[in-house]
Amino acid sequence: MRKDKLNSWNIRYFLVPFIILIILFSIVTYVIAENRIDERYKSFEEQSISMADSYSQALIYAHDAQSIITDMLNEKLIIVSKAISMIDNHDDIAVLVELAKELNLDEISLYNSDGEIIFSNYEDFIGWKVYEGHPIYDFMMSDDNTMVEDIRQDVISGVYKKYGYVKNEDGSFIQIGELAETVHNLIGQFEFQQLVNIIAGKDDIVYVTFLDNDFSVLGSSVDQTPETNLIDESFKERIENEDYSPERIEYEGQDLLQTSVPIYHDGEKNGTLNILWSTESVDKEIYRLILDGFIQISIVFVFMTGVLFYAYRKNKSNIEIAFYDKLTGLPNDEYLMEYLEELIADFDDKKAIMLINTKNFKTLNMTYGFSYGDFVITQIAKKIKGVLESDDRLFRFNADRFILVVNSYGSREELIQMSWRILEVFRNESMVTSEYQYVNVELGIVEIRDSDTTVDRLLQDATLALSYIDNNTNSPVRFYEEAMEDVVRREDRIEKSLRAIINETSEDSLYLCYQPKMDIKGKQIMGYEALARLHLQDIGNISPLEFIDIAERRQLIYDLGKIILKKSCEFLSRVNRSGFAEINVSVNISGMQILRKEFVDDVFEIANSYKVDPGYLEFEITESVLLENYEIINQKLKQIKEMGISISIDDFGTGFSSLARLKELNIDIVKIDKYFIDGIIEKDETKIITADIISMAHKMGLKVVAEGVEYQKQMDYLEKNHCDMIQGYFLSKPIEEQEAIENLGKFIL
Ligand code: C2E
Ligand code: CA
Ligand code: CA
Repeated sequence: MRKDKLNSWNIRYFLVPFIILIILFSIVTYVIAENRIDERYKSFEEQSISMADSYSQALIYAHDAQSIITDMLNEKLIIVSKAISMIDNHDDIAVLVELAKELNLDEISLYNSDGEIIFSNYEDFIGWKVYEGHPIYDFMMSDDNTMVEDIRQDVISGVYKKYGYVKNEDGSFIQIGELAETVHNLIGQFEFQQLVNIIAGKDDIVYVTFLDNDFSVLGSSVDQTPETNLIDESFKERIENEDYSPERIEYEGQDLLQTSVPIYHDGEKNGTLNILWSTESVDKEIYRLILDGFIQISIVFVFMTGVLFYAYRKNKSNIEIAFYDKLTGLPNDEYLMEYLEELIADFDDKKAIMLINTKNFKTLNMTYGFSYGDFVITQIAKKIKGVLESDDRLFRFNADRFILVVNSYGSREELIQMSWRILEVFRNESMVTSEYQYVNVELGIVEIRDSDTTVDRLLQDATLALSYIDNNTNSPVRFYEEAMEDVVRREDRIEKSLRAIINETSEDSLYLCYQPKMDIKGKQIMGYEALARLHLQDIGNISPLEFIDIAERRQLIYDLGKIILKKSCEFLSRVNRSGFAEINVSVNISGMQILRKEFVDDVFEIANSYKVDPGYLEFEITESVLLENYEIINQKLKQIKEMGISISIDDFGTGFSSLARLKELNIDIVKIDKYFIDGIIEKDETKIITADIISMAHKMGLKVVAEGVEYQKQMDYLEKNHCDMIQGYFLSKPIEEQEAIENLGKFIL
């Protein structure tokens, strides 16, 4: 089933470009944001490398400073030792204590050449003797005159100290000791540990470690060096391969950046400075970048949604205006054309269209006003929709016509059932208008069996089917049949011929035959009825029942009627010229002729121009015409009568007009329909009616003609019941003009 135009707009034309645009924009924003993030990280890394580099410089200087200070310290120890050895009374303990204090030394001890402490500012130490294996023993036995030791634990006191020694010529020697704490205080500020702590105090730096070439920690900003996690095998491998690129790591749930720089001293690498930076502030910045990007996308998203939604709504309403009926909301004729075109183009299975025509809608509009008419139309649309299958589509074709496209059905029977369902809707109480008047509909159905057709053809065929609905039969549903087209072609041929006759350019002929009417008492022809005949060269004779009907439907009857009236007058004047002054000529007149404004004037003019006495003219008007437009016609009849023309009511008895009404009508003669005359033969109760009609008409001062009299029996009955005139095959068939003239004056019975 084809999709609804409005619904298909939804997805196809808006959502797809919308999604594509959003995706494109998101990708672009994402790429830009990612680039900016990358750049930011890169600059962070570069910054951290260059900072690590500058910190490494401090370490190198510290290293230098440390060795200078150590050298100075060593020299101090030796100079002081030498100076003390030069003092005479170093066996006076009090002097030594004073001296140590003055020189800010912790210990001054004097050893004899056997390595025994003979004097010391620590009295307890006196008597202690060096033993083999002790560092002092090695010095004592060596040829060296001076020695400075690294900090070590004192054997006696257990305190850490740095010692310096100076040997005298006699082999005795002086030991000067400085507390490790004092030494540390002096060089401490240049120690790696200290520096590491200073570096670690900088913003964004979480850990700092200084490692020697064997990855042993020389200094670390935390007590518990995260060695195991940070200085793993892969790290070691990288450093050994001199790969100092920064690395992102996760440590204790924190995202960190690790930068490592080598520390060189005197052209030799003696360690690696490893700094761990917190990425928090960079992450925050990047988070802001992402947030910015997100906000941008959101703004664009909202904006684009707005713009596209507006465009969508605009388009939707444009479609609505172009393809939908405002009143009922149903797709309109424009849409129908497109829909049917597509349906024909990709025809697959049996499909059908139903033309639903509201018959009395115009009257309804006129009677109750247009807004009520609109209300009825919307009701109709709603009700029909209610009984449809899901894949059937209903269109408002024009004012009071709908087209239903049946997209799938099995058999014709199904279509019939569907049409009855629709008709049932109109029998429903809710379809009763305010004056209890039902809305009447009729349906023309076309079955589409292949793609060999056009939209125009389909609609024409449906209209044609509709025109075949016979108002006298009960079924308001008609299927299109191909034969209908032959009829249309024939009608077209007849119409063309009639037009040519009217324009006097025809090869075909329209002429009149005349059927006599006999006075029942005098047994004499008292008049003729003019009956039109049409002969087409290719088709042959056409019955007036057919061509008069076509002339009426195609608006040709007025001009055609004028020609017939002229021919009748010409005949009447010929009759008069033949010496028969009292012969009456009756002419059949259609309702549409009488209703024309200029009819009375035209009649007057024609009668005048043929110089005939209107008193010998008679107009036959069918009972049904009289009943349809009673007031106006009766008024016109009055004018005609005033001209002297007599009026007869034709086919009387078929139109159900009450006899009582005859009195009000401006008529002179009643022509009883053949149906009642046939009844005389069949001996049924209509016989009684026929006699009653005659007597009633007489009572109202009207003359009575019986038409279609074929048998003597009918004649007898009519004579007995005082009918005035008879007409029929019993007397004569319609005859040609010449014969009609010749028959005048003859007794034909
Ligand atoms: P109508 O006016 O009722 O004419 C009588 C029809 O019955 C004529 O048919 C006539 O030939 C036929 N008829 C007469 N007597 C008998 C009979 O005894 N038995 C049978 N079976 N038929 C008989 P026609 O000439 O074919 O005319 C048919 C109808 O065409 C007329 O019915 C009339 O309504 C219409 N018509 C004919 N000529 C004209 C015309 O000039 N103008 C108009 N408006 N209608 C015309
Ligand atoms: Ca007639
Ligand atoms: Ca008749």
